[in-house]
Amino acid sequence: MREPGSKERIRRFLLAHVGEVVTALQIRDAIGTEVSEWARRLRELREDEHWPIITHNDSAELKPGQYMLKDFPPEKKVTFRRNISAKLRAEVLDRNGFTCQMCGLCPGEIDPDTGRKVRLHIGHIKDKNLGGKDELSNLRALCSSCNQGAKNITGEKPSSIWLLSQVRRAGQEEQRAVLNYLMTKFSTEIEP
Ligand SMILES: [Zn+2]
Repeated sequence: MREPGSKERIRRFLLAHVGEVVTALQIRDAIGTEVSEWARRLRELREDEHWPIITHNDSAELKPGQYMLKDFPPEKKVTFRRNISAKLRAEVLDRNGFTCQMCGLCPGEIDPDTGRKVRLHIGHIKDKNLGGKDELSNLRALCSSCNQGAKNITGEKPSSIWLLSQVRRAGQEEQRAVLNYLMTKFSTEIEP
């Protein structure tokens, strides 16, 4: 392996300087590699791992050759990212309508259990430890809570009779919200 650990050294350097302007020179000194090497690592952190690293292209406050890790990077989802390709991930999310397959929440909605914005993960239907594979038929979209088994919901989909009974029980506000949701959902499906 070439230049082992250079990415890790950049990670540590940037994490020690969150919110500070750092220069190309400082990075080079800290990492001790060629420009092409750290520039590539920086790009990988930005693009592959979604680190919020900004340059003069992103902010007028930065000059060329200056960089800033604006905030702490998103947590790595180690369990899944390694095995499930971006393409497969997208297929699962698309098939599941970008909806948690257990509780039905969508990304960006507030999870009433945690008060946090919902983020979807890709979960295995049959656990990998039990021989479940990384393939479309064994994967489903789950929100963080359901993925961690935090919600007490069965894996079975609700029946239409049960759904209708719940809608009838709900107040007018809630019923209107359901109607709006369905109209939005189906109107986008009909459009070319
Ligand atoms: Zn959920």
